[in-house]
Amino acid sequence: MQEYTITPINTGIVTTSKANYLYHNTTHKYYIKPGEDDTIHLPVACFLVQGAGKKILVDTGMSSTEIADKYHHPGSVQPEGYAIHEQLKKLGISCDEITDIVYTHLHWDHVYYTPMFKNATLYAQRKEYEFAKNPIPLYYKSYEDPRLNIEPRIHPQWEGRDFVLLDGEAEVMDGIWVYPSPGHSVMHQTVVVHTKEGDYHCCGDLIFTYDNLKPVEELGYEITPPSRFLDIAQEWASIVELKKRAASAEFILPTHAPEMLDLIASGRILGE
Ligand SMILES: [Zn+2]
Repeated sequence: MQEYTITPINTGIVTTSKANYLYHNTTHKYYIKPGEDDTIHLPVACFLVQGAGKKILVDTGMSSTEIADKYHHPGSVQPEGYAIHEQLKKLGISCDEITDIVYTHLHWDHVYYTPMFKNATLYAQRKEYEFAKNPIPLYYKSYEDPRLNIEPRIHPQWEGRDFVLLDGEAEVMDGIWVYPSPGHSVMHQTVVVHTKEGDYHCCGDLIFTYDNLKPVEELGYEITPPSRFLDIAQEWASIVELKKRAASAEFILPTHAPEMLDLIASGRILGE
């Protein structure tokens, strides 16, 4: 099977709280101290995958500070040089060289600057794409639906682009495949990349911290559910499935886990 390398890239910082994102309210007492300021600054990772003469992105990360702070999470920042095209430039790669983009899902902080990748083939789950094109108003912000009553109008970054739409588990190319992991969004998917170290699971927003993989014995939970989700029953089943499929936590690469900051700072290229 084709082997790839994976370069983790951070595209900025989203500011939120442990209570609202990381830990389900039934588990707060195990993870959040009473009276603690639980504000947390999460990375927005994406992944450059290289091999077989291809340069592939798993997600493209977040927007400028202006848009992130104004329309999404106040206090979020994209420091100068953190936008995906700037990060790629530092690696000596131009946007035109990106051959493929596989999206875990189509929320705003996973799709930014897509228009710059003119030569890339885009992949998403069909059900995710269909919902993203016509979300319920509750999710207008997440997908940057043009019907948001704000000026200047924001639009989904992928508007007008063709996608290769996937229906469930699918091979994207030799050594890269996806499987559905719904719950955070309608049809979130996890992207698996084969490397010589093993198979890495880019699991997007399925988990927000590695703590989400841990059982809560006292409650009889086999996982620690997060607090931001669309369907908790699907979310739960998807996390259990992720634990079953991944060789260990080391092979799980979430978008926003604070622990990812250490990996990114280390400059390690996975599978090299
Ligand atoms: Zn996200």
